[in-house]
Amino acid sequence: MFARTCSNAPSVPAERFALTNRSREGYDEGKRECRLRAGQKEEEDDGEQDGAGEWFSARAEESCMKKATAFFLSVTAFAALLFSGAAAADPFVRNGGWEGSCAADASDTDSAAEPVPEEILTLPAGTILDSADFGKEEESQYFSASGIHEDGCIFQRINGKSYRQNDDISLEDLRYLKVLFRNFEGETEVGEMIVNRAIADDTLDVFHALYDASYPIRKIHLVDEYWKTDGAAADEASMEDDNTSAFNYRTMTNSDKLSNHALGYAIDLNPLENPYVRQEDDGFSVSPDTAEARSYADRQNMRPYMIDSRDKAYLEFTAHGFTWGGYWSNPKDYQHFEKSAGHDPENASGRGTASAESD
Ligand SMILES: [Zn+2]
Repeated sequence: MFARTCSNAPSVPAERFALTNRSREGYDEGKRECRLRAGQKEEEDDGEQDGAGEWFSARAEESCMKKATAFFLSVTAFAALLFSGAAAADPFVRNGGWEGSCAADASDTDSAAEPVPEEILTLPAGTILDSADFGKEEESQYFSASGIHEDGCIFQRINGKSYRQNDDISLEDLRYLKVLFRNFEGETEVGEMIVNRAIADDTLDVFHALYDASYPIRKIHLVDEYWKTDGAAADEASMEDDNTSAFNYRTMTNSDKLSNHALGYAIDLNPLENPYVRQEDDGFSVSPDTAEARSYADRQNMRPYMIDSRDKAYLEFTAHGFTWGGYWSNPKDYQHFEKSAGHDPENASGRGTASAESD
């Protein structure tokens, strides 16, 4: 599902090769990719004699890893340089400085905050950490908000996918968040999401509280990792994978009106166990459209990870001013929390505005 490469083209996510204990997994992924590429090159070179192919494969892998490692070291050095020189304070940026793992976007550093070590900011989503490695004070460094810039790699990941040129939401209004969460195995994992800057602080506070409460969340990756044809298809694929996500410039399900996800005002949590359910004349339609999700449409039969009004996520989100889709009349969207802070529907696009009950 996730793009992996070991060339040093600009699109390479440097975090894949971060040589820290905490991102060892990403490094190993890069190494595997390098092995794979070396193997493919070997197959392409039909003229190789016995033994020479194996040697070539080993050299190709070594060369690939050298390039990847050199690229990682160069971007982290560049990042440190930029970070030390940046001073623009932004109340909507917390612990940030660049786009999480991206080294070239240091313009939004909050100068009042202690600089966060780059080995924390560069941790890729999906990294498993040992929470015994850091104390309570350090923990907050793992919850950051950063600006998104056209010359940065987060923009490269979302442009033409969850983000497109439009009259409704600008890049300046969005923030890239890094959070920690407890996955279903109880491990501490790094997550990423994009929300409107108006709710960035609240969102970080909610996810920090959920982490401290060991609230289980399956996974948190950008919806762009699930991109196929359009926002609706990506949303469906993300939901089927039980992925928690937020920003997605798309319309509401069964409508041509913008979703609150399109403005970064909505977050879908553990969507497989908390599906979108619409009552139809002849039954129910459920999103994601799978048998497993359909089994969770029955909210009388409460099981682990299902959200209700006593659920910790419900309590945290609503305490921070979010509303819950589980309280809508029809459809009911049990995964959906939204907060339209500062949103003026009158000034939104002419083709319809995000409003209440916008999945
Ligand atoms: Zn939603």
